[in-house]
Amino acid sequence: MTRTCVAISEADAASALAVAREALARGAECLELRFDAMAELPGDLTPFSQLEGRKIATLREREQGGGWEGTTEAKWEFLRRAAKAGFDIDLELGHPLVSRTHLLRPAKVIVSYHDLKKTPSVARIIEVLVECSARSDMAKAAFQVRTVHDLAQLVEAAQLFALTRERFTLIGMGELGMATRVLAHRMGSLLSYAAVSPGKETAPGQLDLETAKWLGKEPMVTGIVGSPLDHTVSPALHTAAYRASAVRGTYLKWVTMVDELEDLLDVVDALGIRGFNVTIPHKEGILPLLDSVDAVAEGIGAVNTVINEGGRLVGRNTDVIGVQRTFEHHKVEVKGRPALVLGAGGASRAVLQFLTTEGAEVDITNRTMGKAEALARMFGARPVALRAAEERRYDIIVNCTPLGMKGFPQEAPISPHALHEGQFVMDTVYNPPVTPLLAEASRKGARAVNGMDMLIYQALASFELWTGKAVEREVMERAFREALP
Ligand code: NAP
Repeated sequence: MTRTCVAISEADAASALAVAREALARGAECLELRFDAMAELPGDLTPFSQLEGRKIATLREREQGGGWEGTTEAKWEFLRRAAKAGFDIDLELGHPLVSRTHLLRPAKVIVSYHDLKKTPSVARIIEVLVECSARSDMAKAAFQVRTVHDLAQLVEAAQLFALTRERFTLIGMGELGMATRVLAHRMGSLLSYAAVSPGKETAPGQLDLETAKWLGKEPMVTGIVGSPLDHTVSPALHTAAYRASAVRGTYLKWVTMVDELEDLLDVVDALGIRGFNVTIPHKEGILPLLDSVDAVAEGIGAVNTVINEGGRLVGRNTDVIGVQRTFEHHKVEVKGRPALVLGAGGASRAVLQFLTTEGAEVDITNRTMGKAEALARMFGARPVALRAAEERRYDIIVNCTPLGMKGFPQEAPISPHALHEGQFVMDTVYNPPVTPLLAEASRKGARAVNGMDMLIYQALASFELWTGKAVEREVMERAFREALP
């Protein structure tokens, strides 16, 4: 059974004791006292020995990310006192004192290894765990996870090392390693380290105790797969939905390169991750890697939501639902109305699917006309050059290019000439909330709607597919406005 171990790093014994008592009161199942963080080692360990439950004493060396710079003998003298006071002892792999651990009995000994820069190969991770196990009661290894490939290596190493039946804890540090922390028991780890409160982390990616306790041992884990993910607000929307629906879960970010998609799927399978959203550049490329794809996603050739149905990965597309609900929300009649789609990428496919299915007369234009022609054929729309489109009168215009988006040219994708009163103009862009296209559309008296509705409705639909819970739109809208004030 995995225990939540709060790592306490305070500058003096009195503060460490206060934090330790607070952590125990708030449900910590184990404490790690980082004595290396103290300016002076406590002479009397009695108050510490009176703390309930398992306690680990650590004097982490500087090169392993700690603050201990004293001599080996001073370290030994302190750790022996700590062992007598009821602490378990953490020692670094390769430290000369590891050869004396039998003298610390009956205290339990953890031999640990930390690489704050990288994750090595599976073979090397296992080698480290074997070396840590040799002279300890529990092996602990923590590696900085920089890529999804690193994460996959750690998960595979955990699966293989678990076959030895040795006791271990294996941690991926950093944002990309979060899954190894929230799903510590699926990794086979005995300890899941947490900070007493946000800002008190002793390693990158550590959860705070309140979050760790709320998530429990079997949280639902979902997330987003794509690259880049710097500006995504999806984690804020889904975190709010988890809290509002009382489903104990978390939504992680996996920055994934094209050649790492299979690694990501291995991690999803091994850790039982419930599902994930797919964004640029994988919406199309992921299709052949899934076990099945529903008719809508297959029809438009793009998946934005994957559900792990007991080991079978099923692809769906909730972007289409996002578009549909946006039009319903704004009570826009579609049937028989002339409509223009700007752009021929992933978002355009969802918009085309909705508009053509609902019977609009759809034109499509794009910077690369060949792509517009291909999508027009696929969906029964008409390709049209931008110049020609600017001369036509459309009731509906939807921008599916990134023009106007933060970080892209701040210009409208079509001349103001094409905008008029009574028209419905939707921009799939939501950051900034008012793009040059929407500003111009409003000036002309058109109804201007940004991409927030589409984003929220697709997120609500994905959340429901994973959890079975329907969450109020307001929950995600509030989170959206807080994330993008
Ligand atoms: P995508 O697959 O990369 O397609 C981008 C499209 O925009 C392509 O047709 C591309 O033309 C065109 N384009 C790119 N840069 C351009 C430029 N400088 N001038 C003119 N056209 C340009 O991207 P996507 O996934 O469809 O996303 C497109 C937009 O939709 C993004 O702004 C994204 O944020 C937004 N979006 C919003 C939601 C939402 O829920 N609100 C969901 C998905 C996407 P070429 O074919 O010539 O390259």
